[in-house]
Amino acid sequence: MPLCICMPTCPFYNDKMARMPAMAERMRQHYCLTDNQDCARFMVRNALGAERVPPDLLPDETDRAKALIDGPGLERKLSMGDS
Ligand code: SF4
Repeated sequence: MPLCICMPTCPFYNDKMARMPAMAERMRQHYCLTDNQDCARFMVRNALGAERVPPDLLPDETDRAKALIDGPGLERKLSMGDS
């Protein structure tokens, strides 16, 4: 996907995060304008919803994103097994 659909409201893309990395422009080119599938923010948004994206999550923090996604998923699986 060339352009991320989140660009109009994304705090990272719109320079609204409290800490912006020095590589922000290069990250925008890589994630926002070229391929958002590897973006940590996009991954969490797709899996859990926009409201669950941490405000300070950077696009390259995929390990953090996976931990957030796997945590609730595991909880869901466990609760389904309880019934
Ligand atoms: S930071 Fe990620 S979610 Fe935000 S616009 Fe860029 S690719 Fe999309």
